[in-house]
Amino acid sequence: KVRVRFAPSPTGPLHIGGVRTALFNYLFAKQHGGDFILRIEDTDQNRYVEGAEKYIVEALDWCGVVFDESPEKPKENFGPYRQSERKHLYKAYADELVEKGKAYYAFDTAEKLDFHRKDHEAKGKTFIYNWHNRLKLDNSLSLMPQEVEKRLAYGQDYVVRFLTPPDEKVHLKDIIRGNMEIDSNVLDDKVLYKSDGMPTYHLANIVDDHLMEITHVIRGEEWLPSLALHQQLYDAFGWQAPQFAHLPLIMKPVGKGKLSKRDGEKGGFPVFPLSWNESVGYREAGYFPEAVVNFLALLGWNPGTEQELFSLSELIETFSLARVNKSGARFDPDKTKWYNQQYMQMKSNADLAKSYRLELESHADIPENRRTTDYIEQVVGLIKERATFVSDFWELSDYFFVAPSTYNEKAVKKQWKDGTSEIMSRLLDILKTQSDFSSQPLETNVKAWITDAELSFGKVMPPLRLVLVGDMKGPHIFDIMAMIGKEESIGRIQKAIE
Ligand code: GLU
Repeated sequence: KVRVRFAPSPTGPLHIGGVRTALFNYLFAKQHGGDFILRIEDTDQNRYVEGAEKYIVEALDWCGVVFDESPEKPKENFGPYRQSERKHLYKAYADELVEKGKAYYAFDTAEKLDFHRKDHEAKGKTFIYNWHNRLKLDNSLSLMPQEVEKRLAYGQDYVVRFLTPPDEKVHLKDIIRGNMEIDSNVLDDKVLYKSDGMPTYHLANIVDDHLMEITHVIRGEEWLPSLALHQQLYDAFGWQAPQFAHLPLIMKPVGKGKLSKRDGEKGGFPVFPLSWNESVGYREAGYFPEAVVNFLALLGWNPGTEQELFSLSELIETFSLARVNKSGARFDPDKTKWYNQQYMQMKSNADLAKSYRLELESHADIPENRRTTDYIEQVVGLIKERATFVSDFWELSDYFFVAPSTYNEKAVKKQWKDGTSEIMSRLLDILKTQSDFSSQPLETNVKAWITDAELSFGKVMPPLRLVLVGDMKGPHIFDIMAMIGKEESIGRIQKAIE
């Protein structure tokens, strides 16, 4: 059975790249009838940020990406799901590797390692803790066994390091990148465990993926350099490694490099799903979760067709790791907006009206009869095709609720000519006799009058829009008149020609 996990470290808010990683794991799991697991990798206590775990869960929940197992939804035999609560498990595995001769104790102080690093740097070299110099350092390969025993008994601080075998070709396999080969001589003897009782990311990650029976590891490209170590660890334990897929980076909208929080600040677009401190999230900026999920799915993956709009269930059906690109995916904030606009059209007027109603509450001057559910829904139906966010609605529809208090000056100059007042007052006479004020009959009669009176549409319609709306914007003018009603339409024209 397919089992995949999303394994964030709670070091801050989840950014958009993390959401995409979670999404791809989720899609893959659901497509294969498998399980999607949340594991919190909180072994690095110095980087722990309060509230980050809650944020991660809430953000993915908002996206509709749901876990089958998580700290809140544990399953027997697989939990706990926070590494800090699994702390007691890891030492035995570190010991096992030492016993097998696959790992060793090292006692080097931070100062000493720092000295070596600087010394190498001065010679234009990089210090790697490996075959090249491990025998000159302070560890169980360079010390006598009794000395090691003594230090351990003593309680001297130590770390357990992986003993990278020399002169080996490490064979790696990645679903997206294919086969790779790494020369073991360039690898570091990474720290696996520290005497403060905490494993490092590498050890905890491998042990947990094994114990949780993870079949596929789908994660960001930034973890690709760790793959050789991870593969070697699986081999050292004699465990079957999961399959790996490293997702391409998400790149800045312009220029080189990874998308960062700063790009969002500079460009005025969100990079977090939900707000975090002073950063506004997609939710708070008015994006629909379906739109965010849809645009994220296409960051690095393509369906191989022209289709751009996918619901979550369509994504589950269509997604495939084989169609994920190797190269970085450029982030496009305008495309995100386009998606939101598309999803806006798919939303029901009733749903949109519910959100809009909240905003309308802050406009005290709207009369009661224009606050009804029915009225708001009809307005929404007329204007939503021009909107990207619900927060655009007021700007697009204020005149449905209150008479314009000013008229666009440029439009006045252009549309209000000598004789316009007179035409408007003649139009008023027609409107006053109009008994059926719904859009169609109104349009028929007004247009008939224009023809009969030998006026041009250009002399009547633009000034009419201007006095009703205050500007040259808005949907079909007769729809607007039908909505605001006879009395209000007449009133607005009258006021303009007085
Ligand atoms: N804790 C790692 C992270 O924060 C997990 C990497 C992995 O999926 O192996 O991204």
